[in-house]
This record gives sequence, C-alpha cells and structure tokens, in this order.
Amino acid sequence: MKLLNNLIIKIIPFLPKFLVKIVASPYIAGITDKEMLKEVKNLNDKGYKVAIDILGEHVKTEREAEEVTKRYISIYKEISKRNLSSNVSLKLTHIGLDLGLDQVKKNLSLLVQAAKKNNNFLRLDMENIPYTSKTIRLYKEMFEEYEQIGIVIQAYLLRSYNDIKKLSNEKFNVRICKGIYAEDQELVFNNYNDIQKNFIRLVKEALNRGAYVGIATHDEFIIDNIYSWITKNNVSKNQYEFQVLHGVPMGKKLKMLMNEGNTVRIYLPYGDNWYDYSVRRLRENPKMAGYIIRNIFLSIFRIK
Ligand SMILES: Cc1cc2nc3c(=O)[nH]c(=O)nc-3n(C[C@H](O)[C@H](O)[C@H](O)COP(=O)(O)OP(=O)(O)OC[C@H]3O[C@@H](n4cnc5c(N)ncnc54)[C@H](O)[C@@H]3O)c2cc1C
Repeated sequence: MKLLNNLIIKIIPFLPKFLVKIVASPYIAGITDKEMLKEVKNLNDKGYKVAIDILGEHVKTEREAEEVTKRYISIYKEISKRNLSSNVSLKLTHIGLDLGLDQVKKNLSLLVQAAKKNNNFLRLDMENIPYTSKTIRLYKEMFEEYEQIGIVIQAYLLRSYNDIKKLSNEKFNVRICKGIYAEDQELVFNNYNDIQKNFIRLVKEALNRGAYVGIATHDEFIIDNIYSWITKNNVSKNQYEFQVLHGVPMGKKLKMLMNEGNTVRIYLPYGDNWYDYSVRRLRENPKMAGYIIRNIFLSIFRIK
C-alpha cells in the first residue's frame, strides 16, 4: 500500500484537475457559499452539527487576509439568519499570521466580535509546529475578549500533555486530533500506538480537568476506548462531542453515537482553494491517498 500511495503522490501534479476534483469531492462541500450552506442544512437535518472551514492557508497579502476575514464574518451572519447549527473553524495563517502578529490580531479580533454578536463559537485550527505557541498565545489573548473560543491540541506532539495540563479548566474548549503535518521526528511520537495512547491520555486529562472536549478522529479504537471510559465515569454529554471530517465513511458509528444522545460535529471545508488544499494534504500525508482509493472503491460499490 505504501508503494501505491507514493506512486499516487508522484503522479498527482500530472493528473487533470477534473480528476483531482472527483477524488477530493467527498471531502469538500463545494466551492460557493451557497453550496456550503446547502450542505450545512442537509447535515443539520440529519442531526449533525457542523464546523465550517474556508479552504486556504498562508495568505501572502493583507488584502487576501482581510477578504477571508470578511467572508467568515458573513458566514456567521448567514448561520444566524438561517438558524443553522454550525460554528466556524479556521487557520490563523489564512487570516494573516504569516504577515505579523498585528495583522492577524486585527482580523482575529473582528472575527471574535462577529462570533460574539451572533452568539456563536470560534475554533482556531492547529497548524504545524512553527505556529503552535503563537496559536496558543493568540487563543489566550482572544479568550480575554470572548470565552466562546477554542483551540486544537495534536496528540502526535510530545509537548501536548503539558499544554493540556496548563490550559485545561472548566472554561477551556479543546479539539483533540492526531495531527496532520509532517514534523521533525524529534518533536513527535513516531509510533502509531503511541499516538493513540497519547490521544486517549489527553482526552481523559482534559475531561478530568473540566474542559469541553471535541474528540476529532476516525480511529474507531480510540472512539470506542474513550466512549467506554466516558460512560463508565458518567461524564456529562454536555462536556464533549465527537468530530469527523466531511466525507469520511463512518455513518454507522456516528449514528450509533447520536442515537445514544451524543453530539457529532462534521468539519466541513469548502471554497475555491480546493485544488491546492487537496494536493497539499495528499503530499503531506501519503496515507490520504490510501483513504481516497478506499473511498472511491466504497462509492463505486455503494458500500457505506
Ligand atoms: C474534525 C477534525 C478536525 C481536524 N483538525 C485538525 C487540525 O486543526 N490540525 C491538524 O493537524 N489536524 C487536524 N485534523 C486531522 C487529524 O489530525 C488527522 O490527521 C486525521 O483526522 C486522520 O487521523 P485519524 O485520527 O482519523 O486516525 P487515522 O489513523 O489516520 O485514521 C483512522 C482510520 O480512519 C479512516 N480515515 C482517516 N482519515 C480518513 C480520510 N481522510 N478519508 C477516509 N478515511 C479516513 C481510515 O480508515 C483509518 O484507518 C482534524 C481531524 C478532524 C476529524
């Protein structure tokens, strides 16, 4: 499978765009706001909550960063107007983190005000290691302005247990995920089982300290392990939610969780940057190629 994944990664730049679009489409809720809003409604009707993400990162100009900020502000307005059950999840480099702290703070502050005005929530996605401490710092500053803001902690990072211990309390809202970027091997757990173990440890630590936890994974071993711990320890259903990426075929498990009264949130990326995003993700994480082949196989044979 590894050979096949690597082969696919080498040929991606030579594939016609339409083919990449077919491959990427299950993961993306279209290109326009209209398409995205329709999918949010569709998911809400099925009982899922949503986290909307405009695709893109590392903007190079102030104008781009401001445009993205304005687009997110209009999303908050649309969510309220249409009474949708969704929040927003964004990357700080998409609203100007590479352009300096002043620039990103200005845009982030506008977004926090928009979240506040619409009584909604803002999640800061976590990017690669050069941005970890900056993201935590900005999160803390913005928390002073508005408490409905959350962050992401990645289970593959060696530093994460300390971060969780320092940050977790009754007002802390954290998404825990494995982490998607290719990082310096010295700074991460390199073994699959160690990442799983750390994920479970982080979730338990955050829950024990009273935080609200978004358990963001498709790894059924982790989901089952944490869920049985949660049930055994009578953790309130108001203290956690399960989160998955749009398009990953896990319908059965999610329905089972929802039937038992748990919240499930779908992370819904969309926008014009679908091509760059898909290609970058495929290159960064060769395993994605394998998932995509599996998804195509499942959709051809309509297995869900
Ligand atoms: C809601 C959400 C938000 C996230 N936010 C961030 C973030 O802010 N920063 C960050 O670094 N990472 C983020 N991630 C990505 C995350 O870090 C992982 O890279 C990704 O979720 C894959 O890891 P996994 O836990 O699903 O486990 P894996 O071991 O990768 O996957 C477990 C199983 O799930 C299935 N699977 C996993 N991914 C896919 C897929 N894309 N398509 C089809 N099947 C799949 C496969 O069957 C696989 O065997 C997020 C993930 C989710 C679900």
